[in-house]
Amino acid sequence: MNRTRVLISGGGIAGLTCAIELKRHGFTPIVVEKEPGPRAEGYMMDFFGTGWDVAERMGLTEALRQVCYPIDWLAFVDRTGTPYCRAPVDRLREALDNRYTYLRRPDLERILLDEARRAKVEIRYAASIESLHEDADGVSVVFKDGGREHVAVVIGADGVHSRVRELVFGAEAQFARFLGLYVVAFHMPRGGFPIADTVKIYEEPDRMTMFYPLDRERMDATYILRHAEIDLRHNDRLAFLREQVNGARWIARDVAYAYDGDAPIYFDSATQIEMPQWHRGRVALIGDACGCLTLLAGQGSHMAMAGGYVLARELKRHADHESAFAAYQAVLKPHVDAKRRQSARYASLFVPQKSSWPWLRRLTLRMLFSKPLMKYGMRLFGAQSVLADYR
Ligand SMILES: Cc1cc2nc3c(=O)[nH]c(=O)nc-3n(C[C@H](O)[C@H](O)[C@H](O)COP(=O)(O)OP(=O)(O)OC[C@H]3O[C@@H](n4cnc5c(N)ncnc54)[C@H](O)[C@@H]3O)c2cc1C
Repeated sequence: MNRTRVLISGGGIAGLTCAIELKRHGFTPIVVEKEPGPRAEGYMMDFFGTGWDVAERMGLTEALRQVCYPIDWLAFVDRTGTPYCRAPVDRLREALDNRYTYLRRPDLERILLDEARRAKVEIRYAASIESLHEDADGVSVVFKDGGREHVAVVIGADGVHSRVRELVFGAEAQFARFLGLYVVAFHMPRGGFPIADTVKIYEEPDRMTMFYPLDRERMDATYILRHAEIDLRHNDRLAFLREQVNGARWIARDVAYAYDGDAPIYFDSATQIEMPQWHRGRVALIGDACGCLTLLAGQGSHMAMAGGYVLARELKRHADHESAFAAYQAVLKPHVDAKRRQSARYASLFVPQKSSWPWLRRLTLRMLFSKPLMKYGMRLFGAQSVLADYR
C-alpha cells in the first residue's frame, strides 16, 4: 500500500497503538480524539498475555514496569473486612513469568501517548468525525468543527460506542449485547478506609466492589452492579450508584457516600460488541469498537493493542487496503470471538446472585488463587498471547 495518510478516530489504547505502528511503517497517521486531552479517569487493569506481547514488540515494557502502585496483596473479604481468600501479587507475577503488571488505563494511555509523541504522530484533541464519504481514491472526512481531510483509509478506534461504526455500519443496538451489569469507578481520598497495601474485593448478591490503594493518600473504587438495562444518558451516575449500594455491608456503601464527586466518575454498561465483519470499503474498526469483550474478560486492552498492531502490519504488508483489512480480520477475529463467547458465559457467575452458593464460590476462589493452580487458572484467562505465532 502507498505511504499514505490514515485517519484514526480515537486516541485510546487501540488508536494510539495503531498510530505508532503505522508511523514506524512509514505511513502518516492522524489521530482525532474527541476529548480535549488525555483522560484522567480510569480504572485499574491487569496487563499481561497478548497485551504484554504487543508491548514487548513495541519496546514499551520498561515503561510498563516503571508504573508502580503500593499493592502487594489481593484479598476477597467478608462483611467484617476479614479476608477469606488472599494471595500475594507476586504469585500472579510468577504465574505469568514476570510478564505482568497492574496499572490504570490512563497509565497505559500515557505510555502510548509518550511513544506516539516521540514518533511525531499528529494528534488532534477535541476533534471528531461528523461524516465520511468514500470516493475512488480515498475517504472525504468532515469534522464536527467543519474542517475537512481526504485520506486513504479511516480506522475506527473510538471505543464501545464508536461513532465510525455508527456512520459506516449502522446503529449500535444491532451489534450490542448487554450482559446485565453496570460498572462505576472513581478515585477518592483514602480517608480512614482500611485498604492498606491490598486490592480488596467484597461481594454481595448482585454487587461486587473492588478497592485499590493508589498512593498513601488516594484509593480507587470500582463497583460492578447487576441491574436491568437503563438509559445511561438519563441517569445521574452518582445517584444511581448510591441507590444501588444502599444496605451494602463492610465499606461498600460508605465509600460511595464519601466520594464527593470531584474526581471524574466512570460509568458504563458491560456491553459486548459482536460484528460479522470488521471492515467495509475503506474503513476498518479496531479494539472495543468492533470486539468489545467488557471487563469480564480482563483482556480488552490486550485485544485493543493487538488490533492496532496487526492492522498496521497488514496495511504495510499488502498493496491494497481490502487485502490488508481481510488479513487483519482473519488473524484476530477468531480469537476475539472465542474470548467474547467465553466471557459472556461467565457473566452470570462474575457477580454473585441471590441463588449462588457462597461456600462453593469461596472454595473455587481459594483454588484459583492457590499457588499450585494459579498458573493453570491464568491460562484460562489469557496468559498465552493470541499473537504467539504471528510475525
Ligand atoms: C472497569 C474496567 C476494568 C477493565 N479491566 C481491564 C483489564 O484488567 N485488562 C484489560 O486488558 N482490559 C480491561 N478493561 C477493558 C479495556 O479498558 C478496554 O477494552 C480498552 O480500553 C479498549 O481500548 P479501545 O482503544 O478500543 O477503546 P477506549 O480505550 O475506550 O478508547 C476509545 C477512545 O476513543 C475516543 N472517542 C470516543 N468517541 C469518539 C469520537 N466520536 N471521536 C473521536 N474520539 C472518540 C474516546 O475518548 C477514547 O479515548 C477494563 C474495562 C473496564 C471498564
